[in-house]
Amino acid sequence: MPVMLIDAHCHLDFSDFDADREAVFARAKNVDVEHFVVPGTMSSRWQNVLALGKRDDVSIGLGLHPYFIEAHREADIEALERALDENDGVIAVGECGIDARFDDTWDQQWHFFNAQLRLAKTRKLPVIIHCVQANDQVAKRLRQLKLPAGGLIHAFSGSPEQAQAFIDLGFVVGLGGAVTYPRAKRLHRAVRSLPDDGFVLETDSPDMPLCGQQGERNEPANVAKVCRQVARLREQSEEAIAAASTQTAARLFSLPLDLDGAR
Ligand SMILES: [Zn+2]
Repeated sequence: MPVMLIDAHCHLDFSDFDADREAVFARAKNVDVEHFVVPGTMSSRWQNVLALGKRDDVSIGLGLHPYFIEAHREADIEALERALDENDGVIAVGECGIDARFDDTWDQQWHFFNAQLRLAKTRKLPVIIHCVQANDQVAKRLRQLKLPAGGLIHAFSGSPEQAQAFIDLGFVVGLGGAVTYPRAKRLHRAVRSLPDDGFVLETDSPDMPLCGQQGERNEPANVAKVCRQVARLREQSEEAIAAASTQTAARLFSLPLDLDGAR
């Protein structure tokens, strides 16, 4: 029996999937992608995320994503705190973070990110971090805060040294479609350098298409292809990569999985 895979980061609540969500789940399961971590992005969408979280095969985070900074209000921070109180099924704070491509909202991004990091710290929850062109600044902040439950640097794209800095802080890096591009030489070096328990597999669906699928909607079934490419880069078997990444995701997010039974 093949080892089960987890999509450690996918936005299955997005309207991109409204027309065929069940078929998307079915295609993923066809290639042994059996569990899905869906983060929250803005307060108006949390209800949809919470609804998905009622499924046994979905675990959820709640957070305020830097990409949607214009949508966030100061009151959303308190609303997030309340939502975490009222829903004990929420396994992480996030998606939150810093995206340096939008430098005009830099200060606001840090304001909301810091508030969510503090929540993750007081509640001892892992944090799901979106970090684009800001690896060193984010690592510096995490070093100051010392979060008790670590977290995920999702869609990691950086150097071996930056990956190691996050791992030293108790974080793991998320590997997704970016690893399938031949030109991503620095990221490939980072993938080869990671310890077996330092990464999880993800898609960021519907975004981050794999090489050869540019312009198409991404979906969790593609975790199997990410697994194949990571195995190739690390010169390990696909089974070994699947087992390691699934175990790491289960540990990081305390997922309610029977890993032995699932094999
Ligand atoms: Zn995301």
